Amino acid sequence: MHDLGSWDEEFGALTADVCKRLVEIAAPTEAVCIPLQGSGTFAVEAAIRTLVPPEQAILVLANGAYGERMARIASQAGRRVVVLDGPTHLPPDPAAVASLLAQDPGLGYVGIVHCETTTGLLNPLAAILDVVHNLGRRALVDAMSTFGVLDVHAAHPAIDAIIAASGKGLEGLPGMGFVLMSPSAIDASRGQCDSHSLDLVDQYDYLRAHGRWRFTPPTHIVAALHEALLQYEEEGGRLARLARYESNSAALVVGMNAAGFRLYLPEELRTPIIHTFCAPDHENWDFQTFYAAARRRGFVLYPGKLTHEETFRVGCIGAVTADDMRRAVTAMSEAVVEMGISMEPILVEAGADN
Ligand SMILES: *Cc1c(COP(=O)(O)O)cnc(C)c1O
Repeated sequence: MHDLGSWDEEFGALTADVCKRLVEIAAPTEAVCIPLQGSGTFAVEAAIRTLVPPEQAILVLANGAYGERMARIASQAGRRVVVLDGPTHLPPDPAAVASLLAQDPGLGYVGIVHCETTTGLLNPLAAILDVVHNLGRRALVDAMSTFGVLDVHAAHPAIDAIIAASGKGLEGLPGMGFVLMSPSAIDASRGQCDSHSLDLVDQYDYLRAHGRWRFTPPTHIVAALHEALLQYEEEGGRLARLARYESNSAALVVGMNAAGFRLYLPEELRTPIIHTFCAPDHENWDFQTFYAAARRRGFVLYPGKLTHEETFRVGCIGAVTADDMRRAVTAMSEAVVEMGISMEPILVEAGADN
């Protein structure tokens, strides 16, 4: 309830404090935080256009919609793009990454999505970063849904940029992206961005020189993110947040299995961020009806993002607890009953859940 002037020094100090806290979450790291107006995708595009020189190529690892989006952004930006295209239920093989890089010296950069939120699949970030580093290339990491929750390996020497945003696991409002960029990458890419409004180095230089964003900042989003970061610290930081999401995830998985819903991914590939469930194999199934029935009970679901299989997704992140997840399971169970679909519990062996 307190307005901030976008060019006022109070807002400059707030921005600096938000950036400092974002770097601390990723510590240890030498990276600096560059904020950017817009949703997460804007920050992904900014990182590509700022860091990948126009004459260089990028290898994008794509096993879901966000990897595909990164490839599309880079190719629309005129960069040569090689895509390691994989099925949505499998992580990319670091050996395949190594062989593509060895074959093509023009591939200076590798774009990696940490958790592919399309399915909730955790990609093997550390193993791929090792390959990138050993072959002398640089990495851009889309850590949108993992930042503040999982270890994003910010100190890894292969990383030029870690890209995330104000929503997702930080539990702020959506509307601000940010990129943690290494000082050497900033110096190497100054002046080369082929977009004016998405030039991260220009944004960084301007912020340092004037204590202000280059263009009108989303003041309320930044203020809300500041408050969300204070709450994040009060909760106990990354491990405490991860523990809560793990407990949300466990409540969801156990409850959904008992209700008869099968998970799309095997346990070892899942993250406690979002889960993909297979739609019941029943003639009455219709996602819109299911969605509306769950919504009437107070729960908003995510549609599936897979083309080859009928699925839906349930997020475990945000200011919710395991009790909320159990209530969501009840709502979804009632929704299928209302649709005339009866399901058998999925039996779970001790120590495994699918
Ligand atoms: C949410 C998300 C994004 C960005 O999406 P926006 O809708 O632009 O905020 C990018 N990558 C991943 C992996 C995400 O989960």
